Amino acid sequence: MVKLDRVTRRYSDVLALDGVSLEIARGEFVTVTGPSGCGKSTLLNLLGGLDSPDSGELFVDGLALHGAGEAALTAYRRHRLGIVFQFFNLLPALSVAENVELPLLFAGAPRRVMRERALALLHIVGLEARAGHRPHQLSGGEMQRAAIARALVHEPALLLADEPTGNLDTANADLVMTALLKIASQKLTTLVVVTHSEAVAEMAPRRIRLLDGKISHG
Ligand code: ADP
Repeated sequence: MVKLDRVTRRYSDVLALDGVSLEIARGEFVTVTGPSGCGKSTLLNLLGGLDSPDSGELFVDGLALHGAGEAALTAYRRHRLGIVFQFFNLLPALSVAENVELPLLFAGAPRRVMRERALALLHIVGLEARAGHRPHQLSGGEMQRAAIARALVHEPALLLADEPTGNLDTANADLVMTALLKIASQKLTTLVVVTHSEAVAEMAPRRIRLLDGKISHG
């Protein structure tokens, strides 16, 4: 599903990624950890189609991102990718279900289809009962789970999460990871989660550690 072959990304004299080769199978759930400056954000930016490698090959869902132009990368981000950030970025004026539906609204999906899909995902992340609530009525962990449902609603091939538990206490972080594990067990998408939390990283079936732009483990 994800394949990197000797991917290098250099910033002037810094090798942010130094010949990284990596394969992640469809439906796999991996966490990426490593000390500050090891290349985690660089890897996320490449997988997210926001940046291109200087050398090497990078495929996601059969698409060669290393050779893709701006239009192809934009289409990739819109249709094949879901992203979850540390801060949930839910729209305060919309209900939880409406927030989850939002990516489908832009795609012009019928209203009934949007609602069914949103509710199915809210059920998976344990938030069905909160569908009509506004974001400010939710806990941080609930907001993050709503953001995860929103990131999955257009059925992306790959879900990237950048410190999804970074703003949460341990109990809420556990609930978010439990939701991600459930998504992985149902093979809804392939999951790559960047975190600096060892406890969070250890919950995933596979861990990748980066050190100085190289994979040190995983
Ligand atoms: P992490 O996310 O693990 O903290 P990064 O991928 O942000 O690591 O950075 C890897 C290395 O590349 C670091 O040494 C960082 O200083 C450098 N780097 C990252 N982005 C840039 C940039 N835009 N310009 C110059 N150097 C950068």
